[in-house]
Amino acid sequence: MYKKKIREIVIGSNNKGKIKEIKDLLPKYYKILTPSQFNLRSPAETGKTFKKNSLIKAKYFSTKTNRPCLADDSGLEIDILDKRPGIYSARWGGEKGDFNLAIKKVFKALNVKDKNWMEKKIKARFICALTIFGLRKKPIYAIGRIEGHISNIKKGVNGFGYDPIFIPKGKRKTFGEMSPKVKYKMDHRFKAFKKIKKFL
Ligand code: IMP
Repeated sequence: MYKKKIREIVIGSNNKGKIKEIKDLLPKYYKILTPSQFNLRSPAETGKTFKKNSLIKAKYFSTKTNRPCLADDSGLEIDILDKRPGIYSARWGGEKGDFNLAIKKVFKALNVKDKNWMEKKIKARFICALTIFGLRKKPIYAIGRIEGHISNIKKGVNGFGYDPIFIPKGKRKTFGEMSPKVKYKMDHRFKAFKKIKKFL
């Protein structure tokens, strides 16, 4: 039977949760490489948008490794916090990327904004911008979103980041309570990936 030739691609992230998720989405004929195999740290995310930051990462890792790179930039936007943490989602976890700290900061910011927030449905969404650099002449982009609201307590131990406080629209469970298989099929990264996979 005809088999597609193995190709290499770098996943432009040092976040284990994301690497695992992107790995599961990529066709099996891709050999996945990660920045740590090249001793590369992530570049500074100096962009003002998810799209720009995903381009910064994809371009940096592709140039440094001389291979195509798929990078994502993602985060959680909360409407009553004027879309924060947004592009600063990872940075709210501090230098060590402590997601418990990031979630505490979300609760604190919500308390400051509205002390009755726990009785309300606090609208939020996850956004994912994907960029592939080095596969075609120009970078390839896609954006995916999933709408939902913030749970007033942390629930579930699956996933990473803000998963224990995000309840997708029409569901009762947080992403942290869902099995990875269920979450991967509906989330922002999957939606962006669906748009970009024809290029792979
Ligand atoms: P960055 O794209 O590496 O700047 O980091 C995005 C940050 O957004 C992550 O560190 C998480 O805190 C958060 N985030 C992005 N996608 C998800 C997700 O699927 N679940 C939970 N948190 C996420």
